[in-house]
Amino acid sequence: MLRLERVSKFYSGNGLVSTGFSKVDLEFDIGEFVAITGESGSGKSTLLNVISGLDSYEEGEMYIMGQPTSGYSKEDLEDYRKKYIGSIFQTFNLINSYTVYQNVELVLLMSGYDKSEIPDRVREIIEQVGLSDYEKTKASKLSGGQKQRVAIARALAKETPIIVADEPTGNLDSKSAAEIIRLLHQLSKDKLIIVVTHNYDQVEPYVTRKIAMHDGRVAEDKRLRVTAMQADQKETEIKTAKADSLSFSSMARLGVRNTFNIPAKFLLLLVVFIFLCSAVFAQYSSFMYMGEMTTGGFNNYFSDTEKNRILVTKPGGKEFTDEDYEKIKKIDNVDKIVEYDLLLDLVANVTDDSEKGEYYVTTKLGEAADYAGQLEEGRMPKNSNEAIMICPKDDYAAQYMDVIMDKKAEVMDQNSGNAIIKDKVKIVGYGYMTEKQQKVLEESDIYLEGYLCVNDATMSNIRLAALERYCTQEIELADHIAEGNSAAGVMPIRASSEVPKGEIYVSEDVGAMAESDAVGKELKLTNQSLYFEDTFKFKVGAVYNKSNLSYYLDRDDFDAISGTLFINPEDYSRMFNKGNFQSSVIVSDYKTAKETAGKIERAGFDTFNVSDGVISYSQGFDIIQETLRTIMLVAMLLVLFFITYFITKLILKSRNVYFSTIRMLGATKANCSSLLKTELFAVFNIAFFFCMLIIMLVKTGVVQNDTLIQMASFLTAGDYIILYVILCLMSILLAARYARQLFKKTAMNAYKEEV
Ligand code: ADP
Ligand code: MG
Repeated sequence: MLRLERVSKFYSGNGLVSTGFSKVDLEFDIGEFVAITGESGSGKSTLLNVISGLDSYEEGEMYIMGQPTSGYSKEDLEDYRKKYIGSIFQTFNLINSYTVYQNVELVLLMSGYDKSEIPDRVREIIEQVGLSDYEKTKASKLSGGQKQRVAIARALAKETPIIVADEPTGNLDSKSAAEIIRLLHQLSKDKLIIVVTHNYDQVEPYVTRKIAMHDGRVAEDKRLRVTAMQADQKETEIKTAKADSLSFSSMARLGVRNTFNIPAKFLLLLVVFIFLCSAVFAQYSSFMYMGEMTTGGFNNYFSDTEKNRILVTKPGGKEFTDEDYEKIKKIDNVDKIVEYDLLLDLVANVTDDSEKGEYYVTTKLGEAADYAGQLEEGRMPKNSNEAIMICPKDDYAAQYMDVIMDKKAEVMDQNSGNAIIKDKVKIVGYGYMTEKQQKVLEESDIYLEGYLCVNDATMSNIRLAALERYCTQEIELADHIAEGNSAAGVMPIRASSEVPKGEIYVSEDVGAMAESDAVGKELKLTNQSLYFEDTFKFKVGAVYNKSNLSYYLDRDDFDAISGTLFINPEDYSRMFNKGNFQSSVIVSDYKTAKETAGKIERAGFDTFNVSDGVISYSQGFDIIQETLRTIMLVAMLLVLFFITYFITKLILKSRNVYFSTIRMLGATKANCSSLLKTELFAVFNIAFFFCMLIIMLVKTGVVQNDTLIQMASFLTAGDYIILYVILCLMSILLAARYARQLFKKTAMNAYKEEV
């Protein structure tokens, strides 16, 4: 059934070619029990390896059942080994961390045996070699003789027609050796068994044929007995072993078994993978963090460009009603509504007017009633145009707090630098911000140092003034039209109780538009903002000049106010104290501000995420920055990949023996590669799960760590999925790379190197 025709095997290396054996002619049949003897170095092992398909040959032809094998590819050879060859080695080659049962089972799994038939078959064979009592014992705990029995059981399990054994008794005492030989003899009835030995006497009583090797050649080939087959004179049909491949479920099972069966190795790998996962997490979140940073900047219309601000208006520019606010408040992620939205874009400045110019503190506007802390000094504001200043403790502004007591702050529009209310606000107390307020301030890309908190009366003054600022006017007097912008000082409109309702006092230059005496004439004043346009009709009640100013308006600052239109406070309020046309929603979590805006729109409003209109400080460099950032991330991932790879390689060194062993048992490279992938993939999943657990603990507040909390805050569910995919890929690539390195060599070479 197996025939070698002038087969030679050469080894080449270091420029020298040495001969394993040369021009060997041999033919073997089923039923034979062949002993190959010869001095050391005569080529016995080499011959056996060629026969078992572990090594290739260079010359001649080997036939199996009449089929030539010289053209076999690696895959063909693997198939050949699976179908025909069971191997037994001097050094046993068991998987030491597996039990007796698992060692035998392994071969069957690898040949694709059906799961249901495996247990019975394994037990039957273990019984055949007399090891039933040791089924659950780890291979490492067995004696030499027992180990070799396991190896025989393993060779038997596959039902191959050929069993080769290279010095199977070399490591055994004579009693165990005799038992092993007897066992092999029993098996030889329907198989071809080839045993290499240099202790021929030991096998002499059993073998049917003796082949002596000398210097790479067959020196003697002697048939000693008739085989059982020859005695029966019957042709037996040769059955080959099953040669299916490892099923997916068996591979998963083996992979998971390998993951855990050496606890120390598992723990080491786990540590390495946890390191990998956390490093990738950290890299990725800092990547996201840098992305957040580049959106800082300014905006021509809004000075409060925080990401948690969503501007809300009503379609058609309508006024907000209380029901509207109720509706918006119910939407989740809405932290609060700033109804008088314009206030957000105002700032308050306290400057050292003296030569020294020591301090310059810029704050946001806030409501005194909202301040929950204790004042350090002074009192809460009682009268209008009084305020308290609050700032973070230990910050820049804090050192000037006691200095700015009793000083005056100017409320102004940050973008234009124009004062909003004419009167400065006096600071009557100061305090430090609560932790929560401080956090809000820190999280915004802030250049502001605290809050100027005023009472309701001051707030409504400021609000009115701010509303006025965003209006323009047009007046029509005796068919002449003039345009004004009250807030910008072009025909400012001021309230005075000296003016009766429905009347307007104009200065002489405005009065001149009438070309005759303006008093008594109708003046149409159209007040217009982004959201409304109202026309008011006034009767010109007086035209004032420098000399009559004090008579009409009870003041004498003509030069300062010339051009101003004076109306009754009630009319003024009617004109500017409109409802809210534009409000801002402040969201709790700015990362989902977009979704929240979507929800507000579905509730029937128009929205604008103020930070979208921000012009980045680094505009133009954005693309370069983004690219650099990405390159950096990829580079870091590569570095991490290789660090992990080299450590993994060190840890998995012990795996080399395992893989070369199972390859000799018929596992293909693909099998080994899948096993390795499964193993690393399993460890990686545990590591990933572990990291996620830590993040969950951080998010739920069980673990308190600032760095981790910050890290976690940059990652959303989508990011975790991306991270999982990145890490999955990394672990699979790692396994693939390792497998490629490991299996470059032929099974035998890999094995020889390791043992
Ligand atoms: P035996 O098993 O009879 O002791 P081997 O088959 O191991 O002998 O070796 C036969 C010859 O082949 C020896 O000369 C040995 O040096 C050579 N040889 C065996 N393996 C290799 C190898 N991997 N590389 C180079 N030469 C080898
Ligand atoms: Mg040898």
